[in-house]
Amino acid sequence: MSTTFHTEPQGAGLGQRLNWLRAGVLGANDGIVSVAAVAVGVAGATTDLGPIITASSAALVGGAISMALGEYVSVSSQRDTERALIEKEKRELAEMPEQELAELAELYREKGLSEETALKVAEELTAHDALGAHLDIELGIDPDDLTSPWQAALSSAIAFTLGALLPFLAIVLPPAEWRVPTTFVAVLIALALTGTISARLGGAGKRRAVTRLVVGGALALAVTWALGLLLGTSVA
Ligand SMILES: [Zn+2]
Repeated sequence: MSTTFHTEPQGAGLGQRLNWLRAGVLGANDGIVSVAAVAVGVAGATTDLGPIITASSAALVGGAISMALGEYVSVSSQRDTERALIEKEKRELAEMPEQELAELAELYREKGLSEETALKVAEELTAHDALGAHLDIELGIDPDDLTSPWQAALSSAIAFTLGALLPFLAIVLPPAEWRVPTTFVAVLIALALTGTISARLGGAGKRRAVTRLVVGGALALAVTWALGLLLGTSVA
């Protein structure tokens, strides 16, 4: 059992928030590109609004569910691993408390504390919350703060949907001859924006991140649009 009032170190909290933000931006990019590619492909084949709306909505819903599923599976297996590690640590603490105390002291010595201080720190932490102390320094796990698979699934589905709404509206709202150009422009501007955000989050070079995304997005749209044109004239 650990006490309920533990204050999270600010670095870890910030890192986690950045991870969420990064995952959100990636999900939004996915929604933007995949739904735009479907929308532009169908718009290349037909000027009928019906099939365009049907295909784009299906791409939006299917994509959001697929994102949620992928995230659920990956976070679940991560949690299984963390649970197994927590159980193992609990067992070791119960079966060989002496070695575990020595191990904890050693880890603090490696961090730069003197032998005496490291032992004192290890003893005090063990008396306070032995499991929490071991999980923290050995594995970087906070057992009270594990990511929920449902939460991760829901947030990536929301991020995908928010991204997907942009090409959906861009293809549905304008008059027929403006659908594809509007979608191209809206998507490329949106990708430049998300590219800038993720570059800022990752501390990477902004221009390269933006170029990769915009070129990749333009390529996806050009290919599916050409495919739509081709199939539209050959099939119809
Ligand atoms: Zn341990």
